Amino acid sequence: MHLDAAALTSLQVAQMWRAILPSGRDLDWRIPASGSNRNAAIRIGIFMNFGNQTTLRDQVVLNGAGVHSNEPVRIVIRPAAINTGVVFLRKGLPGGRERRIEARWNKVSLTELCTVIGQKDDASVSTIEHLLSALSGLGVDNALIEIDGPEVPIMDGSAAVFVEAIDSVGLARQSAPRRFVKVLKTVRVEHNGAYSELRPGDNGLSLDVEIDFAAGPIGRQRKRLDLTPDRFRQELAGARTFGFLRDVERLTKMGLALGASLKNTVALDGERVLNPEGLRFPDEFVRHKMLDAVGDLALAGLPLIARYRSFRSGHKMNVAVVEALFADRSAYTIVDAEARREPRSELAYGYRPTAVLAEAR
Ligand SMILES: [Zn+2]
Repeated sequence: MHLDAAALTSLQVAQMWRAILPSGRDLDWRIPASGSNRNAAIRIGIFMNFGNQTTLRDQVVLNGAGVHSNEPVRIVIRPAAINTGVVFLRKGLPGGRERRIEARWNKVSLTELCTVIGQKDDASVSTIEHLLSALSGLGVDNALIEIDGPEVPIMDGSAAVFVEAIDSVGLARQSAPRRFVKVLKTVRVEHNGAYSELRPGDNGLSLDVEIDFAAGPIGRQRKRLDLTPDRFRQELAGARTFGFLRDVERLTKMGLALGASLKNTVALDGERVLNPEGLRFPDEFVRHKMLDAVGDLALAGLPLIARYRSFRSGHKMNVAVVEALFADRSAYTIVDAEARREPRSELAYGYRPTAVLAEAR
């Protein structure tokens, strides 16, 4: 179908969108990105990020191996009730135990090379950032992720496979308004000239990421993006993780990167990209850093209304800035999106009275 978005107000388009796609499943229709059309598309994207909470329509199963452990692992991403957030259910522990671990900043135990939640000597899940990024980037509020090993599978080193899996079942809109963490004042962490910063913003999450590597193929790259599901799919999801050949020996001695290969990592040797297929984007490196940041910021537990800016940042600094935000009660507030009226038949999952929304998470 054809829509002339420039001739409509964003509210009219949003109403049409709701009428056409009452399930909220298909967030993937496009308007040519130019001039006022582009602005309309951005406004619609922002609108779609607000509204009701979402979960997956059905479960999806993924099999792969951990990039650090190289152990085979299976994950099942399941729909979850309103206000669950993203929770891992770590299975396969000694004695058949299982353990729930919320994907939240205060459960993070390690941020070296990847982000780990839970406790290493008990139950933990590592390399969660690309999966969290996919869920957050597509606007999934609630999901339960069963995992039978200690590390999320690396797949192709990007978030593309997770996005494809989530899109294969689509999203169900739930009967409660989405809740956000709205940043009220700037928080910043810095170290040796590198920094991560969250500033107040008006609409959703906008990102501005800059990196500076000595290696020729990377160099200095900067990318800015107002996060919407479409832009996440098109501009970030496919960007792969990267590493330097000189680090591989050091990492494998530490028992890390045992599953790394050209199938899941852009490998650099001096000035050369070793992958025969080359890069997916000329600035794939900064795109991947932004993808990582979306996953790390998802550890806030709710979507952010903020402007994120970073320079030479990584997982550690991103988690630290989220921690700094929550350490200052005057730096943020929790807001509800306005609830949409839904016919009862569309309440696919987790209907609970709206009074429940008053509970603190
Ligand atoms: Zn990454």
